[in-house]
Amino acid sequence: MKVSDNLVSFSEPILVTRPLLPPIEEFSLKLSEIWKKAWLTNSGDQLRILNQRIQTYLGSPNVSLLGNGTLALIMAIKALELEGEVITTPFTFPATPHALSWNGLTPVFADIDPLNMTLDPIQVEAAITSKTTAILGVHVYGNPCHVEALQTIATRHHLKLIFDAAHAFGTRVNGVPIAHFGDISAFSFHATKLFHTAEGGALLTPHSELKAKIDKLCNFGFNEKGEVDSIGINCKMNEIQAALGLVVFNYLQAERDKRKSILTCYQNCLQEIKGLSFIEPNPKVVQSYQYFPIRINAKQFGKTRDEVFEALKKYNIMSRRYFYPLCSEYPHYSHLPSADPKRLPHAHQVAQEVLCLPFYGNLSLKAVQTICHLIIKIKNQGK
Ligand SMILES: *Cc1c(COP(=O)(O)O)cnc(C)c1O
Repeated sequence: MKVSDNLVSFSEPILVTRPLLPPIEEFSLKLSEIWKKAWLTNSGDQLRILNQRIQTYLGSPNVSLLGNGTLALIMAIKALELEGEVITTPFTFPATPHALSWNGLTPVFADIDPLNMTLDPIQVEAAITSKTTAILGVHVYGNPCHVEALQTIATRHHLKLIFDAAHAFGTRVNGVPIAHFGDISAFSFHATKLFHTAEGGALLTPHSELKAKIDKLCNFGFNEKGEVDSIGINCKMNEIQAALGLVVFNYLQAERDKRKSILTCYQNCLQEIKGLSFIEPNPKVVQSYQYFPIRINAKQFGKTRDEVFEALKKYNIMSRRYFYPLCSEYPHYSHLPSADPKRLPHAHQVAQEVLCLPFYGNLSLKAVQTICHLIIKIKNQGK
């Protein structure tokens, strides 16, 4: 590919993502409905309708809508009444191990599969001790974990299997919706996620009795009779969040289509570049189009990931080193035996190489091409 020397930087910063914002008039109409009813939370109309839509879209009858994705994870763990150690990945957002810590559990980090960047089942099984009670996998960038292998291990060792599905809204494996796997899946509806309610989240489980327990836990411990029979908390979603979600839902397919063409454009522009790779699309997987990560092999590319990250910034392109550093490097976790870098070689290598490029529906294909040309220019700088 020929690259001209006169590429100038973007006049406005290009951020790594932008929230899907539907026309404000549609949201205003929804707000008027809420005002008329004068009902702002506690299983109102908007919450009931959104719950239905999510049940249909994610293919699970057991949906609990919550205040955010971190609370969803914390409540998933709480509802399963876990103790001791939980095996998880260091290559994730801090919310994942923190949800364990908030429940008084010890995260045990296991290394990742270097290709799809999710937990390596072999490393998971090797990390099991007499104190292990669960496995907490993360569908990183919407790449599904090795769901069947993890389930086999969980069953064999009588462990619960939890998934952080914050990136996996709409992901399917062999046609099966992602929330069918494991005991429980936590979704985030944060503004930066493909589907969002500004802040929000959900728990989905195949077990209806577990859903009932979650709903009670998340609403102060009130049971169906309106009596308080356990220690609950408040982590409900409200009507305004749900209304936003319903309006966002109307634009979800269009957003996915736009992201799909952006992804194709990036892949076409970048595929011939030595030292640069991206996750091979798995034909068995319906993607969530949450992020577009690339990997930069410094030796072959001629520049490190950090050099590319800094150089892009100079052109007003705000890529993200997502996830870097690893959770096992945070001061709160780095003392753990499982956080020893020698035990996590793949996670450390991936965290040094990965870079998420700007990826959102309103990003023009022209901007995508410019970003790609600048990456090539950066590669050739100083040669
Ligand atoms: C966004 C995210 C969360 C947290 O979700 P919030 O809704 O922001 O609390 C948890 N895990 C992962 C992997 C995430 O990306």
